[in-house]
Order: sequence, then C-alpha cells, then structure tokens
Amino acid sequence: MSYVKGLKCRECGRLYPKEAIYVCEYCFGSLEADYDYDNIRKNISREKIAKGPRSLWRYRDLLPIDGEPTVGLSSGFTPFFRAKNLAKKLGLDELYIKDDAASHLTWSFKDRVVSVALSKAREFGFDTVACASTGNLANSVAAHAAQAGFKCFIFIPSDLEVAKIIGTLVYAPKLVAVKGNYDDVNRLCAEIAARYKWAFVNINIRPYYAEGSKTFGFEIAEQLGWKTPDHVVIPAASGSLLTKIWKSFQEFEKLGLLNEKVKSKLHCAQPLGCSPIARAILEKSEVIRPEKPNTIAKSLAIGNPADGYYARDAVFQSGGWAAQVTDNEVIEGIKLLAETEGVFTETAGGVTLAAAQKLIQQGKIKRNESVVLAITGNGLKTQEAIQKSVGEPTVIEPNVSSFEERVMGSYNKAKVKT
Ligand SMILES: *Cc1c(COP(=O)(O)O)cnc(C)c1O
Ligand SMILES: [Zn+2]
Repeated sequence: MSYVKGLKCRECGRLYPKEAIYVCEYCFGSLEADYDYDNIRKNISREKIAKGPRSLWRYRDLLPIDGEPTVGLSSGFTPFFRAKNLAKKLGLDELYIKDDAASHLTWSFKDRVVSVALSKAREFGFDTVACASTGNLANSVAAHAAQAGFKCFIFIPSDLEVAKIIGTLVYAPKLVAVKGNYDDVNRLCAEIAARYKWAFVNINIRPYYAEGSKTFGFEIAEQLGWKTPDHVVIPAASGSLLTKIWKSFQEFEKLGLLNEKVKSKLHCAQPLGCSPIARAILEKSEVIRPEKPNTIAKSLAIGNPADGYYARDAVFQSGGWAAQVTDNEVIEGIKLLAETEGVFTETAGGVTLAAAQKLIQQGKIKRNESVVLAITGNGLKTQEAIQKSVGEPTVIEPNVSSFEERVMGSYNKAKVKT
C-alpha cells in the first residue's frame, strides 16, 4: 500500500511520475514526494504508529516507498532523553537530547535517509548505488549497500577525517577521493550521474532520500508525548534535515496526531567557517551566498547548500533564528556534552550545542522554554578535532608508590587548592 501519488515540483507545482528524477524540466525547481494525505488520514493513528517496529519504519505511511522496506530495517528510533545536567549548565529548565550519535548502522542521522533511498533504489531495480558525501553519508551508503548487496561508488573530498575514510573502506565500496571540496565533488557527481544508470542517493534519488530526514522530527514529536518542543536547534549542511524536520511537524499536525498546535521555533546551527544559511538568516538576506568552507566541522562543510532557501524559509516561518560558532566553540561544545550527559558527539553536535548557548545568551531561547538539541553524529569519527583538547592519561610505573606519587599526589594537591 502506497500513499505516494508521484513527484511534485517545489517551485511550480508541476506533477511527475515516481521515477529516479530530481529536477523540474520547466523551472529547474527540485522535486519532492507528493502524498495522498486524505487517505493517510483515514489509516494513520498514534496507536498504529506506537504498535509499529522500533525503527523509522513505524512512520512508513509517510515515507515514499511503494512496497515493504527492504534496506535499513534497524535504522531510527534513537534515544531521546531529558538532559538535566546539561540543562543546569545552560540555565534551562527543560532540555532534551535527540541522540543520533547512537544510530544503527553507522552512528549518524544519515542512516535514516539512506534506508529510505536504498529501499527505493531496490524498488526501481537499480543494482548500483552511489553518493557524494561529506563523510557520514559515505559510511552509511557503503554499509547499507554491503548489507543489501548493491554495487557501490562513493565520492568524497580527499581531506576527510581518517575514521570516515576507514569507516567507508571497510565495507569495500569503490571509494573515490576527489581533490577538491564537497561542492566540487557534488558538481562532478551530477555529471557522472547523467552518464551511468546508478541510484545516486543524493542526486537522482534525492526526492525519496530527503524524506528520510522527516523521521528525525516524527520521533521528537512522538517521544515528547505527541507534541513539539518550543525550540529545536539543528545543524545544517545542505539544509535538508532542518527543512524536513519542519515538514514532519506540519504533517503530524495536519494529520491530527499532535496534542497541541506546532509551536516550535527551528534554529539553524552552522560553523563560522561555513555558514551560508545561518548568514542569510542573520542578515535577513534574500540570497544565500556560496562560501568556500574552512572548518573542523567537515560534515557541515557545504558552501553551496542545495536546500539553503528552503531551510531559511522554514526558520523564518517557525520564528526561529540562527547562530554561527567558531571551531574552538565546537570543541568546547563536544566536551561539555560528553562531561554532562555522557554523549560523545562529532563536530556537528559541537556546533549544535555551541549554537544553543549563543541563542540562550541572546535571549532567543528562554529559561522556561523546552529545547531539543539535534545531535546528529558520533564523536568516535572525528577524534582528531579534539585530540589536543582533552588532555592526556597519567602514565605511571606498575607499582603502588608510583600511583600514589603521580596520581594521588597531584589529586591531593588539586584537592587542597580548591
Ligand atoms: C549531513 C549531516 C548534517 C546536515 O545534513 P543536511 O541535511 O545536509 O543539512 C548534520 N549532521 C551530520 C552529522 C551530518 O552528517
Ligand atoms: Zn517546476
């Protein structure tokens, strides 16, 4: 049973059949899945969702596949919890973490989009999948392709973190490191996609792929008790996740699944060294000016964001705002989340937390309002970013006196000082 009627141009509204296409032939707008909401409304309910699988496929009725899902059956439904220690540090009463650092299979929210994209690629009958990636997408496409038996080509900028390269190679795809930044990789991939009959997950499969990000928002609303928080702080690269979280809240409201109207303000978090969307929001600019990325938050290093305008509009519609953070603030953010909540996030998560701190300082987020931080990736993948900022172990000889002298000696000294 499928509720997807076809694809629809986001700009001119023209309709297209369900195919591996992504741009409108008339206006060059991007295409999006078009659902039959009247029929969905008749069949969906909170009870039905709650009884569904403990994965993102519990929202299958709002995802653009026709048959049963075949790839990524364990993705999604990640932890969502009240962060009391961090709330105290930030001066908030009600703070939550949505933790995709714990995502199965590959420890980032990209498992959501890839599960939908590869399930769709299988329905279309493709035998080869491909992607252009800032790192996490590479890991996830390679892993799911291995699991599902697709041939796989992955394109990355050549300067990625070691763990993201090894964490792709281990699944044995054809990994191509391009001498250039993500925007160069993406441009090249658009040309390659036109030459080969592959399912390029973030190019010709993008209308389906992008819908997977809605499940991040569906889960926030369900796990919060069928309502939306006052604020969500979201890291942005292409801007798709932010746009789709907004869409997910609107869909839940439209389908009568929420206890109250959507009240969430969505905030865009970007690193200062690559913040074309945040900049446009802060300057209330009509245009999003492309940038040349220079940041440790490599998963967010997209200088020419495909969904930048949609993300900016979603922020303004929701009454949200944006924040840009320095690399040092990213590092401090990673450490603070780990020290207070035991969650080790990657650089993108550091961007989110540091951005939230700015928004609190500026009074955009107030103490008594509920806040969700979108933690989208795992810190084990970006260790070099914090290697010099976490100290070193105390090395001792294998005897008690060495322990007393080097560990407890300095421990007691530290105790006396404070
Ligand atoms: C890709 C990515 C994002 C942002 O995704 P967009 O949908 O392109 O804005 C955020 N966090 C992490 C860890 C990512 O890998
Ligand atoms: Zn169009």
